[in-house]
Amino acid sequence: MNVRCTYCRNSFNLSRDFIVSAVAEAEEKRQKHVNVECIKCRKIIKVPVKQMKRFLPRQTTAEE
Ligand SMILES: [Zn+2]
Repeated sequence: MNVRCTYCRNSFNLSRDFIVSAVAEAEEKRQKHVNVECIKCRKIIKVPVKQMKRFLPRQTTAEE
């Protein structure tokens, strides 16, 4: 998924692996946001867990 830094306007891509582990960690801590470090300015951007979940595959269906 693509994330845009609110500080420097740099946009970068988050890998699915990152999202999977970040969402799991946030849910464990009962956080509604995931802290993502901007690769350019290194500031912390808060990305809503809800938004991240949309990019995850559904775990209940195993096709193929
Ligand atoms: Zn930035």
